[in-house]
Amino acid sequence: MRSKKTSVGLPAESTSERAPVWLEPGVGFPLLRFDNTFVRELPGDPDTLRAVRGVRGACFSPILPLPVREPRLVAHAFEVARLLDLSEAVCASDAFTAIFAGNALAPGMEPYAACYGGHQFGTWAGQLGDGRAISLGEVLNAEGQRWELQLKGAGATPYSRTADGRAVLRSSIREFLCSEAMAHLGVPTTRALSLVSTSDRVVRDMFYDGQPRSEPGAIVCRVAPSFLRFGNFEIFAARGEVDVLTRVCDYTLRHHFPELGAPAPETYAAWLTEVCRRTAVLVAHWMRVGFVHGVMNTDNMSILGLTIDYGPFGFLDHFDPGFTPNTTDAAERRYRFSNQPLVAKWNLVKLAESLFPLIGSIPPLEDALAIYTATFEAEQSRHFAAKLGLHSAERSLVDELHELLALVETDMTVFFRRLADVPVELGSEASDDALLAPLADAYYPPQDDRTGLSCLSGPARARTVTWLRRYAASVKAEGTPPVLRKQRMNAVNPKYVLRNCLAQLAIDAAEAGDPGLVVELLEVLRHPYDEQPERERFAAKRPEWARRRAGCSMLSCSS
Ligand code: AMP
Ligand code: MG
Repeated sequence: MRSKKTSVGLPAESTSERAPVWLEPGVGFPLLRFDNTFVRELPGDPDTLRAVRGVRGACFSPILPLPVREPRLVAHAFEVARLLDLSEAVCASDAFTAIFAGNALAPGMEPYAACYGGHQFGTWAGQLGDGRAISLGEVLNAEGQRWELQLKGAGATPYSRTADGRAVLRSSIREFLCSEAMAHLGVPTTRALSLVSTSDRVVRDMFYDGQPRSEPGAIVCRVAPSFLRFGNFEIFAARGEVDVLTRVCDYTLRHHFPELGAPAPETYAAWLTEVCRRTAVLVAHWMRVGFVHGVMNTDNMSILGLTIDYGPFGFLDHFDPGFTPNTTDAAERRYRFSNQPLVAKWNLVKLAESLFPLIGSIPPLEDALAIYTATFEAEQSRHFAAKLGLHSAERSLVDELHELLALVETDMTVFFRRLADVPVELGSEASDDALLAPLADAYYPPQDDRTGLSCLSGPARARTVTWLRRYAASVKAEGTPPVLRKQRMNAVNPKYVLRNCLAQLAIDAAEAGDPGLVVELLEVLRHPYDEQPERERFAAKRPEWARRRAGCSMLSCSS
């Protein structure tokens, strides 16, 4: 192991703080092919101090991770390791843990924190930046794919503002598991390679009630083609730094949207249109699986249309369009489930405004935003038809279902999964009870003791039966055989999602020293659409204890 300068010029020995060690090339860790375009092609901050500051005219600040004490690998995702051509033997090595804890650096890495701004809860917040994320570099794998590696929780950066640059184990477990769960659900997302715990404690006031507690710390290594956010563009537009704005836009086009052609006003407009399209596709996925991001600030919106920055997110347990898991947003509920499509558009408007200096006229911006709306609507219809096992579903059928789901507390995931078992093929022969029976488990209010059936009664029961009969008629009209319908529905209606209560159980165990449930949940969530008979307990609706427990129904941004 040796000590040297990073190639972006940071003297690792310049401060009294501990610095990660540089591994010898190929010793203990395979030589990865780094091609660090971000730091090579974009203007960087000449200042290399860790001190918090306003950074002008630069897209990033070179900064090294701050080593931690006693790093331990809690879990890793072998699929992500494979993307990086890392074998299981490498993942089990000390060097792997040291690197992804921020204690060691491999040859070719050029760590940095990115500068970005953002609109938070509807208000321009100025410079934000990677306050606790440190990118290590961009790996080119054997297939020529580019993957940026980024440590989250690796120590303070010039963008840490008043915070410590660290992350607690609970939020790191959530981000690690949910990144992978989303990928396996087929939702565009940043990935997670590793979860490392440390014996350094991190102090958090979880509910901002003046009662901070010291918690175990952790570091997640995130992986994505790029972590660029809307805020990476907004910051330069807001400051009138059009030259830097142009450079970061051209960089993005060159590396991430090369099919759109050379920089020109029309190309920027085509790019914005593509971002609008991808964002619509993304949000439609969130709506189909019942995911609530929780903090859709523009600094948390990926330019590639990926789910990014897992904080106080949640999957809907009972279908409540007004649900937000984020206590910070409890009053306004700006980022509630049903508002996500609108908020995404609002965020795209902010991105469009930032690109105006390069595009120079309003109509292309409006056209791009119209593509967002059209794409979202088309995707939403497509997904909900598929969730019902139909090729196409009348809008009123889907709208009425959404109303029904909210009428009586109904578990979204269980409901759609069980809908495949409703004997719609019996047509008018089917009794009301026969139609309702498969859905009994989806309802939260207690079952009827007499019939053992769901709590549905009165108008809710009548409306549900009417809807089921109408649905049965739609299925019949399309003529899909029952077995095929079930197969198709099971392929799009997940049986297993990362409910907050499941994440919380894994967190409780891991904080008590047993990471087993993190690893088991990762395994379950690898196959969200499959029946896993030995793991039925992970498919159950939210247990009563989780209804009001912190971390389950409510979360804060404190992580
Ligand atoms: P978020 O909305 O949680 O993704 O974060 C908003 C901003 O706060 C980003 O600039 C983050 O880098 C920064 N931030 C969040 N937590 C921390 C922390 N513990 N230390 C430093 N910066 C943080
Ligand atoms: Mg963020």
